[in-house]
Amino acid sequence: MQLPLAYYGDPILRKKCARIEQIDHQLKQLVSDMEETLEAHRGIGLAAPQVHHALNLFITKVPLKNTYEEEIPAKLRVFINPKILAYSQEKNICAEGCLSIPNLYAPVARPISISLQYTDLEGKIWIEEFKELEARCILHENDHINGVLFIDRVKKGNERKLLDPLLKQIKKQYHPKQ
Ligand SMILES: [Zn+2]
Repeated sequence: MQLPLAYYGDPILRKKCARIEQIDHQLKQLVSDMEETLEAHRGIGLAAPQVHHALNLFITKVPLKNTYEEEIPAKLRVFINPKILAYSQEKNICAEGCLSIPNLYAPVARPISISLQYTDLEGKIWIEEFKELEARCILHENDHINGVLFIDRVKKGNERKLLDPLLKQIKKQYHPKQ
C-alpha cells in the first residue's frame, strides 16, 4: 500500500525518531509500504518520518555501477537503528532534492564515504562502508530520522536565501490552514 508523504511544514519532519526495539510483522509491512511509496515517487531513499512514522528506519534504492561502469539495477536496502561510525574528511558538493520538499533542489556538501552500523530486516547487525551517491543518500536519510532536512545543510548566504520564498510556497501549498 502506498503511504501518504509528510511534506515540509509537517512537525513530524522535525522530530527525533525513536529506536526500534522489535522487528515484527508490522514493521515488515511498513518497510514494504515504504518501498511501494518510494517506487511510486521515483525516489532513491525514504525515511520513516516522511510517511508519518517517527522511527529510526530508512530505506534506499540507489542505482550503482559495476567495475565496468555499467549501471546495476537499484536494490532495496533497509536500515534499522543506523549509526554513523565514521566520516571521510573529504567532501563533495552535489544538488539534492527530497520527496518531502517537492521540486526544490540545492547543493549540499557531504562526506564522500562513511562507515555505518545498522540492523537489517532479519535483525542482524552489520558494519559497512558506503561511498559516493549511496553514502550521500544514507546521510540524507539519516538526517531525516534526526529531524534534519537537507535545506538545513545548504550553505548560508545568497543560495540559502533564494530558497526561502520557495519553502514558504511549499508550506502554503501542502498546509493551507497553518
Ligand atoms: Zn529527504
